[in-house]
Amino acid sequence: MLFPTTNAGSLPKPSWLAEPNTLWAPWKLEGAELKSAKRDATLLAVKVQEDAGIDIVTDGEQARQHFVHGFLERIDGIDFAHKVEMGIRNDRYKAMVPQVVAPLKLKGRVHADEARAARAHTTRKLKFTMPGPMTIIDTIADSHYGDRVKMAFAFADLLNEEARALQADGVDLIQFDEPAFNVYMDEVNEWGIEALTRAAKGLTCTTAVHICYGYGIKANIDWKGSLGAEWRQYEKIFPAIDNSLIQQVAIECRNSHVPLDILGLLKNTAVQAGVIDVASDTIETPEDVVKTIEAVMKFVPKDKIIATTNCGMAPMRRDIAEAKLQALGAGAKLARERLA
Ligand code: ZN
Repeated sequence: MLFPTTNAGSLPKPSWLAEPNTLWAPWKLEGAELKSAKRDATLLAVKVQEDAGIDIVTDGEQARQHFVHGFLERIDGIDFAHKVEMGIRNDRYKAMVPQVVAPLKLKGRVHADEARAARAHTTRKLKFTMPGPMTIIDTIADSHYGDRVKMAFAFADLLNEEARALQADGVDLIQFDEPAFNVYMDEVNEWGIEALTRAAKGLTCTTAVHICYGYGIKANIDWKGSLGAEWRQYEKIFPAIDNSLIQQVAIECRNSHVPLDILGLLKNTAVQAGVIDVASDTIETPEDVVKTIEAVMKFVPKDKIIATTNCGMAPMRRDIAEAKLQALGAGAKLARERLA
C-alpha cells in the first residue's frame, strides 16, 4: 500500500490522566490507579488512531511524562534527587537535570505494560518510540563515566535491551527520537550514528530515527528564528544515516523550513514525511496532505513515503489532535487514489 500513515509518537493525554495542554504534565493519579489509567489511555489512543485511518499506530506515549525521562526513570545508576544545571542542545537553554553516578543498568522492563496493552488491542502495525542515545546524554549530567561518548554507548546498550524486548512483545517498528542530531552535526558523524545503530543492533523489526527542530518552548522558537530561511542541517548527516542500518527517517515537511530537495540524499532510506503541522492549531485539509505528499514525491520514490505528523502532539488540545489525525488518514487515502 502506498503512503501508509503513522504519527510521530505522542498524543494528548485525557484530562483525568494528566494536566491537559502542558508539556511534561504532572499525573493526576498514583499507584495502582495510575497504572490502570495509563493502560486505559493507551487503549483510547489506539482506538482514536484506528478510527482516523492510521495504519501504523502508536501507544501515544500515554504512559510517560516526557520522552527522555520516561526511559531514565527505569535505570539504575541515575541520581534524580540531586539535579544539577546543564546547558541543553548546545546551550540553547538551561535545565536542571539528573546525574549519572554509577554504572547504568536497567531495573527491568521499561515499556512492557503499554506495549503489550496496545498490542493486545489492535491488529494494525504497532510503532514504539524511544529517545536516542545522543539526545539522552544531552539531557543528563555525567558524574561517573567521565566521557560523554562512553556514556552514550552505555545508554545505547540499555536501549537495545529494551528495544529487543519490545520487538518480542510484538512491536513492528521502533523509532529513536534524536532531536540532538541537527544540533551536533559533527558529533553525529563521529559517534552519534554509531551509538544509534548500537541501540538498534540485532533488531529484525523496522527501525527509524526521528530528527526534529522541536516545538513549544520559547528557546526552541528563538533558535529556529536564528537558523535562516532554509534549514539545511540534515545535509551534513543524511549521507551517514543513509549508509547505516536505520531504515526510515522521520522529519517535518509541512510548513517546514527544511528544503525538501535534501531528501534526495536518502537513497536507501524510507521517509516518514511529516504532513501535519503540530505547531499550529489550524486543521489541515486532506488536499493539504496530498500537496505535501506530492512535494515530497519530487525527491523520494512514492513507495518509500510514509505519511506522519511533523512531531509529537502531546501538548495539543485533544480535539485538535484528533481532527489532525483524521485529516492525515483522509489525506493519505486521497493521495492513494490520485497519485497511485
Ligand atoms: Zn519531533
